[in-house]
Parts: sequence; C-alpha cells; structure tokens
Amino acid sequence: MPVKRANKTPMPERPAGIRSHDFREVNEGYSLAHAAFEAERCLRCQDPVCIEGCPVGIPIPDFIHAVAAGDLPGAARQLREANPLPAICGRVCPQESQCEMLCHMVKRFRPVAIGHLERYVADWERMETPLPEPRTPTRAEKIAVIGAGPAGLVCAGELARLGYAVTVYEALHAPGGVLRYGIPEFRLPKEILDWEIEVLRRLGVEIVCNVIIGKTLTLDALFDDYGFAAVFVGTGAGLPAFLGIPGENLNGVFSANEFLTRINLMRAYDFPAADTPLKVGRRVAVIGAGNTAMDAIRSAMRMGAEEALIVYRRSEKEMSARVEEYHHAIEEGVQFNWLTNPIEILGDKEGWVTGLKCQRMRLGEPDASGRARPVPIEGSEFVLPVDNVVLAIGTTPNPLLIKTASGLETTRRGCLVAEETTGQTSRRRIYAGGDAVTGAATVILAAGAGKRAARAIHADLSGEH
Ligand SMILES: Cc1cc2nc3c(=O)[nH]c(=O)nc-3n(C[C@H](O)[C@H](O)[C@H](O)COP(=O)(O)OP(=O)(O)OC[C@H]3O[C@@H](n4cnc5c(N)ncnc54)[C@H](O)[C@@H]3O)c2cc1C
Ligand code: SF4
Repeated sequence: MPVKRANKTPMPERPAGIRSHDFREVNEGYSLAHAAFEAERCLRCQDPVCIEGCPVGIPIPDFIHAVAAGDLPGAARQLREANPLPAICGRVCPQESQCEMLCHMVKRFRPVAIGHLERYVADWERMETPLPEPRTPTRAEKIAVIGAGPAGLVCAGELARLGYAVTVYEALHAPGGVLRYGIPEFRLPKEILDWEIEVLRRLGVEIVCNVIIGKTLTLDALFDDYGFAAVFVGTGAGLPAFLGIPGENLNGVFSANEFLTRINLMRAYDFPAADTPLKVGRRVAVIGAGNTAMDAIRSAMRMGAEEALIVYRRSEKEMSARVEEYHHAIEEGVQFNWLTNPIEILGDKEGWVTGLKCQRMRLGEPDASGRARPVPIEGSEFVLPVDNVVLAIGTTPNPLLIKTASGLETTRRGCLVAEETTGQTSRRRIYAGGDAVTGAATVILAAGAGKRAARAIHADLSGEH
C-alpha cells in the first residue's frame, strides 16, 4: 500500500484581517487538484467506520474513490442519494465529532478531510449540472409540511420525489429556517440555499411563506379544511432562553436569535441597500460558546465592533462550537473569557448597556449533563465595559403550534414526542422531526429525520403500516 500523507490538504481561506470586515465566505473551497490530492489519502478500508459516524450513512469511501477516479457525476450521485443537502452539510457539519472522528487515519495521522470533499463535489454539481426539469405530482394525496428548515425541506423533497403534492408552510418571509436566519453568509452563502430551494420547487414543492401554523391557520384546519392526508412538523427550536439576571431589558441587549435574524434574514449587513439597520456598539459581549455564539460574535465584528468578547461560564474543553469556527474566531481577534459567569447587565440613565458584571468560576464535580459543574469563586466579581450583550445560551421549541393543536404529546422541555425511526407523533398522520423533537441539534440530524419521516409517511399512505 502506498504511504499516505499525514496531514489534510488545507482548505484555502481568506486572510483573517480582511474577511473579518465583510460577509463574504471565509473558506474558498478546494480546486479539482486539491480534491484529487486529498481523495488519494483515503485508505478505502475494509471496515469503513467513518460511515458509522455519519447520521445519514453517506457511502464515504465510495464517493471519495469516485473523486480520486475523476468521476464527479458518480460522486455527486452517491452523495445526494444519502444526503439531500450536501453543499450545506459540507460547510456546517461538525465532522470532527462525526465521520472524521472515526476515520482510521486518526490512529496515526490527521483524518481524511471528508467534509471538504463533500463540499467540493456538491459545489461541482451545483455549478456544472443543470437544474432538474419541472415536475408535477403523480399521486392524488396532498401533504403539508410545517416549517421550511432543513427537516421540513428534506421531508418535502423526498415526498415530492415519491410523487406527492407537497405544500410547505413557513412563518418567516423566506424559506430555510436557521440556514437562512441563523447561519451567516460568511459560513453559508445564501445562493447555495436558494439553489437547493429551486431544486425543490422544480420537483413540484409549493412553499407558502408568512403563514404561522397555530395563528394564521390551525394544524387541524390543514386536515379538515385543506384536505391534506398527512402533516410533517419541522418547526425547529427557535425560542431563545434568557439568563434571568438584572439588566436584561436594557437597550443593546439581544438574544442571538434576534441579533442574527436582523443581520441575516433582514440583511442589516447590507444597509442602506436593505431596509433594516442594526446599531452595533464598539464593544460587544456574547454569552455562550456554541455555534450560535461564534456566529453572533463574528457577525458583530463584521458589523463594526472593535472589541469582541465571548463570555462562557465553563472552560474551552466544554465548548460546543465546531472546531473550525472556534479557530476562525481566534484568528479574527475574538477574545475568550472562560470560566466567567455574567451576573448583571449594567446600564446608564437612558437605559443603554454600559457593562457586564461577571464572576469568575472554577470547575467542580460533573453535573447531570456529565460536564464539570462551574462553581462561583467568592469575591471575584468584575465588570467588562461593553455596549451590547448578546445571549446565545440555548433555545427551545416555540410552544405556539403545540398549544393550538390537541393530542400532541410533548416532553417536559417542550419537544414533540415522536418515534425515532419514523417521526410518528402521538397523533395519527402527524409526523415530526428535527429540532422540534430533539431540541437544538444539528443540520444533518434534522435532514435525516425529515428523510425518515417522508419514507414513513409514504409507507403509511401506501397501506404498508
Ligand atoms: C446560529 C446558529 C448556528 C448553527 N450552526 C450550526 C452548524 O454549524 N452546524 C450544524 O449542524 N448545526 C448548526 N446549527 C443548528 C441547526 O441549524 C439546527 O439544528 C437545524 O437548522 C434544525 O433544523 P429544523 O428544520 O429542525 O429547524 P429550523 O432550522 O429551526 O427551521 C424551522 C422552521 O420552522 C419555522 N416555523 C416555526 N414555527 C412555525 C409555525 N408555527 N408555522 C410555520 N413555520 C414555523 C421557522 O420559522 C423555521 O423556518 C446552528 C443553529 C444556529 C441557531
Ligand atoms: S475510515 Fe477514513 S480512510 Fe477509511 S474509508 Fe473512511 S475516510 Fe477512508
């Protein structure tokens, strides 16, 4: 067997000092030469454990082998059959804790860059192959999908491919869910999302925006008045959590959800070409250390903040952000305040934020989540002078839909109860998946749940249950 190179082929990226001032994509993508070079590193193992780490079971060595052999159409076909959103997942999946973590190369070297190769193949497909010819449904049954995030979009696409007439109802004015309003342009350019949505439209999926199920229409009306045969609920977990500390109502305090929605969906970064401005101060603190926190702080820098601070009550080890986002944030100049717990937001007489009072922490025994519990250090309080505070400490499902529909069982945390393999909820012909069921998770888990539910709905309507 030829000797394999130890290191991944690096992803070309724009210099930190330049990219941190604009919203253009940070990673530039592999060239064909990079992709072929990296694909050669794969060992084509007898036991490709990498596949076990992929929530949708992409045939990883096969698609990588197709890249190495120069068969990009074959690679694209294999990828898309397993993962309906490869260009998106190639950019945002936490590969280091999934496929790449299990790759056999890790025993001695760095893993194969599976995510970078996925992105390369999916981008080639988008740029080099025509959009599908428009199709019309071949089956009589209509299916409604609530929520146009990855779970809903993937479910809709799979059902349309099976011949169903599918209507997606989305509360916001544009489809995409977190992919549209949460993850910024510099990580996921919206032209990629728009292309995926155009593919769905050509498959016959109808997307109706500005409709809140539970307010504009009820879930029951979808069956009784609109004649849908089944419903998939993919409404996500978009309700932000707050800390409950003094000062949270001051001007200049945002939930990360609102902050990112104003920047991404309302395109505040493009003001005055877009209608909605967003005033970002000179010093911004983001509380939390997940992907949402990294997106919020890096967006704040791009909106003009000169000092960008992450405040997190645990340590670097417990941080949940993707490794790549963390490294990019460090390169761009974000400062990390580990083991720091915010206890009060301070303001001036006019009600604007002036500072964040914090307390130093140390790590104690593990808590219920298995992570070391942060314990306050007496007398360690101090103030960080800041102009904005952005809270990125988690989200839960919005209760609106559930409150207005009877018979849907939920967990104590407000998540819908649904069977893991089918998405079947406690109500017949109502299926669910994605963050609405799991709580805040990942794009690929939501996409996988949408795909499984589509198959279960098809089996149900075909009388296979
Ligand atoms: C800022 C941020 C960064 C993230 N970064 C990553 C990352 O790098 N990698 C990763 O894998 N994951 C990431 N995630 C998590 C990931 O985006 C989510 O797990 C995923 O989007 C969940 O998909 P979903 O379809 O279940 O829900 P969502 O994407 O939340 O979509 C739900 C949709 O339903 C709509 N909706 C809600 N209620 C109703 C209603 N009553 N009627 C009609 N429509 C409704 C919402 O408007 C929304 O469009 C990130 C999340 C955030 C917030
Ligand atoms: S484990 Fe790594 S080296 Fe082996 S087949 Fe998968 S990607 Fe290739």
